[in-house]
Amino acid sequence: MASCGSACDQSHCRRPDDSGGAEEDVPERFSASRDSDTSKTAGGGDLARCSKCGEEPKAGTHRVLNGMCASCFRSYLYGKFKLAVSTNAMISPTDKILVAFSGGPGSRVALQFVHEMQKKSLESWDASKSQSFPVFGVGVAFVDESISSVIPSPELDRIFKHIKLIVSSLVPGHKDLHIAPIEDVCSMGSDDGTTRLNKLLNSVSDATGKEDFLDHLCMLSLQKIALDNGYTKLVIGSCSSTIARHVISATVKGQGYSLPADVQYVDARWEVPVVLPLRDCLTDELSLLCQLDGLETLQLSKRPSSSNSINNLVSSFISRLQDDNPARERTIVRTAEKLKPFGFNKFVENKYHEFIPSRLRCKFQNTNNGGSDLAEVFCTFCMSPLSESELHDMHGKSQTLVDTFTAACCQSCSFQILPKESESLQHFLSFLPQSMTRKVADSTLEQSLLR
Ligand SMILES: [Zn+2]
Ligand SMILES: [Zn+2]
Repeated sequence: MASCGSACDQSHCRRPDDSGGAEEDVPERFSASRDSDTSKTAGGGDLARCSKCGEEPKAGTHRVLNGMCASCFRSYLYGKFKLAVSTNAMISPTDKILVAFSGGPGSRVALQFVHEMQKKSLESWDASKSQSFPVFGVGVAFVDESISSVIPSPELDRIFKHIKLIVSSLVPGHKDLHIAPIEDVCSMGSDDGTTRLNKLLNSVSDATGKEDFLDHLCMLSLQKIALDNGYTKLVIGSCSSTIARHVISATVKGQGYSLPADVQYVDARWEVPVVLPLRDCLTDELSLLCQLDGLETLQLSKRPSSSNSINNLVSSFISRLQDDNPARERTIVRTAEKLKPFGFNKFVENKYHEFIPSRLRCKFQNTNNGGSDLAEVFCTFCMSPLSESELHDMHGKSQTLVDTFTAACCQSCSFQILPKESESLQHFLSFLPQSMTRKVADSTLEQSLLR
């Protein structure tokens, strides 16, 4: 979701020391050439043949990545997707998959690849005599955030039509499309969602806090769509580039304890587990695939965001690093993945094993003991697992309703999202979506039973 900002021009931003890069095990350096002149293809060397298949490029075409032809580049990206899906048991034949489509290249490619996988499964289902395995279902969700970016309604209608067209073109395999305005999560039965959401967002004064809270509401909207329509997994298009930005900004925000939870392929802390099959791809690679294959993305007006928000500053910083060395995003993600994941960063149910190729089963089972098995308590405002000290504080408080809410909140959200002044805090809490207040009530009950 994070967008790449402009390059940082501060004088103290020096070129990073290359020795610190440690680009261990980075097989490909991204060197996209969008120039139709083959003589300008990046990477040098023999320009005549594709480095993977050895074919000579057709006249007028160009190499796209490290000397690969378009077809090999496509298989290379699909291969990364497929490996992530199979090694992490992301999609089983009985699943009903909801793909979160935001209009950007990440979610567009995720949608395309999930569709291609479904298409192949349908073909082999048709061909198989026994037809014993069902084929997973696919739906698409679009959360309409136009409330935060003032889009005129004819423009909005055009966007919706465009999305419908994209989804209906993905055949075979019917895909339901769910479009939900983000304000719906705040609605209390009547259609007062817009007023409630605006009041809620206006109470958050910090620019970073507002952006993060909006992201959380967006995830709540997706979860609501998934739960209401019986989906079993939620696919999001996060890739190495977006995760790298999250790693650095989470570090700045002091979210070190919960960071390992956000950089894995599987995130089952949500009621409908979230999976990241494009975790190993880069935004540039995904954008290039969209260009090559004519996969349409949406030019949506961006959320109004402050250039001083941590998210924006970090995005500019990483774009600058990436300009200097194209492997930086991957290096950041590889560094973060050394952190120990949580118990919810994997599927523990054995029923998933039967759908994993046998050669991978052993690996998958070994990872079952990789994370902590303790039940986690999550922050109400960002779903971060709470650290021991935060849990300790939680037990000390919980006198009034306001205490209960502030206690079920991580230190980062407490600083960045919760209003400081008691009156505005009460005002803010009174407009929270029901799904959040219900969660706090449930966890309070659980805590009191545990005592
Ligand atoms: Zn090739
Ligand atoms: Zn939080």
